[in-house]
Amino acid sequence: MKSESSRSFVEMLRVFIPKERAPGETRVAATPETVKAMVKEGVEVIVESGAGSGPHIPDLSYEAAGARLSRDPVTDWAAADLVLKVAAPQRREVGAIDEMRAFKPGAILIGFLAPHRNLEMVRTLAGGEVSAFAMELIPRISRAQSMDALSSQASIAGYKAIILAAGHLGKYFPLLITAAGTVPPAKVLVIGAGVAGLQAIATAKRLGATIDAFDLRPAVKEEVESLGARFHVLPGFGGNGGSGQYAREVGEALLKKQQEVLRPLVSECDAAICTAQVPGRPSPTLITNDMVDGMRPGSVIVDLAVEQGGNCEGSELGRDVIRHGVVIIGHPNLAATMPYDASVLFSRNVFQLMRHLIKDQALHLDLNDEITRAALLTHQGKVLHQPTIALLEGGF
Ligand code: NAD
Repeated sequence: MKSESSRSFVEMLRVFIPKERAPGETRVAATPETVKAMVKEGVEVIVESGAGSGPHIPDLSYEAAGARLSRDPVTDWAAADLVLKVAAPQRREVGAIDEMRAFKPGAILIGFLAPHRNLEMVRTLAGGEVSAFAMELIPRISRAQSMDALSSQASIAGYKAIILAAGHLGKYFPLLITAAGTVPPAKVLVIGAGVAGLQAIATAKRLGATIDAFDLRPAVKEEVESLGARFHVLPGFGGNGGSGQYAREVGEALLKKQQEVLRPLVSECDAAICTAQVPGRPSPTLITNDMVDGMRPGSVIVDLAVEQGGNCEGSELGRDVIRHGVVIIGHPNLAATMPYDASVLFSRNVFQLMRHLIKDQALHLDLNDEITRAALLTHQGKVLHQPTIALLEGGF
């Protein structure tokens, strides 16, 4: 495989933005703002009619920004050099289009592709000679911060988790001193202080709650405390990953110790926001059923880790479970419940990656570049991402 592949276009580089067809996906991968910026880069932009319906962006706004509207997505998809998506391409039964096979050979795809959950898609894209960039594989380095869609969307999820918790809780979040007496502030527990957890803390603080936060990485203490929360760690535990790093999976014995540290915090809180995740691994179970049984009825748990199995033993994907009077919210993809801002931020991340790949109006895939190499899932008929190769070879 060549370490660099460059394709210049006699005709203009053609970018297609389809309507998302995945169930529950309300976002779109380009907004009029990014369409305008793409046109300025000398790119032809084609947007499927209705692509902006989730975030309420009318077709007319895309046209005004310089896009051509498509009413024939099959033809325009197959003619595109670059396809910008939010969710992974879907099989035919989800929509009228077989999205996995809709590309011309050599086309580039950018989107959240969740390769570990979509191995059939990975095989099909590689077989179709699609160069697929997975936004979740963009490295967490400062040079790539503007492309970091995991962070932009996790931040929305953290914010929305608090709004959901406040909506379900039969209590005020802030301290109120009223003529009828004083109302104490709600107690919020945030488990996992990564991007989503920190935004949950900041949002709960703005609403006036008192906040406890727990993470396995002592390195996040300063950030947590600067946002106004009390930080808890595992006593005597030296840490798991540093500042700016992912946590590693922990063994059963350590998990038990964590549960014991968390038990009193869980029983005291009105709302627990669970965000503890380990990339590519199942999420740690940090709130067991008996811990839920020790909570006050009427309390709320929002489990943002639910797609990887959840931090709460009782959470179920896509459902609100009520156990012992406690609501356990297992809503996947909370970012899609705020489609406008989620699309605005995601489309900026995508545009920045696109700019990274375009030089002199030509697509330029430099496999020696750290960002390109890390995010490129399939290229020239091959799968490049090692953990996905391992899953494929494992016969999954
Ligand atoms: P994540 O979603 O993978 O995990 C969320 C949090 O859960 C993490 O803080 C992690 O330590 C914690 N966690 C994992 N297992 C746990 C357990 N058993 N108990 C308690 N907590 C547990 O993380 P993320 O939000 O994607 O962020 C990962 C790291 O990347 C963070 O350090 C973040 O600051 C950093 N980051 C760096 C950049 C950059 O440099 N450009 C951008 C974004 C994030």
